[in-house]
Amino acid sequence: MAKIAVLYCKRIQDHSCVACAKCFKAMREKNAEYGRHDEIELVAMTHCGDCPGLVVPRVKLLTEVVKNLDETIEVIHLGTCMKLAMETAECPIDYDDLKITLEKKFGVEVVLGTHSY
Ligand code: SF4
Ligand code: SF4
Repeated sequence: MAKIAVLYCKRIQDHSCVACAKCFKAMREKNAEYGRHDEIELVAMTHCGDCPGLVVPRVKLLTEVVKNLDETIEVIHLGTCMKLAMETAECPIDYDDLKITLEKKFGVEVVLGTHSY
């Protein structure tokens, strides 16, 4: 069982994937990056903090909120929307740096991407 949080691109969500229906379906189907978990418990879903790359304060806030609810996040998935923003738009996030920072600072595993469609 993996307790996960999903971050989505604040600029793209609800434009390319309305209501995040793609990620919810992919979680049920264990599609693509969700396939690494035998079971998934979605703890939280929120935006990336917006440009220009405010992910770290956003995850800090998320971590505090979740802790206050006596919950934990083990894995943070950066949505496929974020991956596409980094690869094809002008997203300022450097994934390799961000992964190291988040894993070190918050003790979570960070995975790039979610669904394949
Ligand atoms: S990739 Fe996933 S998290 Fe991102 S907007 Fe689409 S459904 Fe939402
Ligand atoms: S482009 Fe990058 S930093 Fe800007 S909102 Fe999207 S994921 Fe967040």
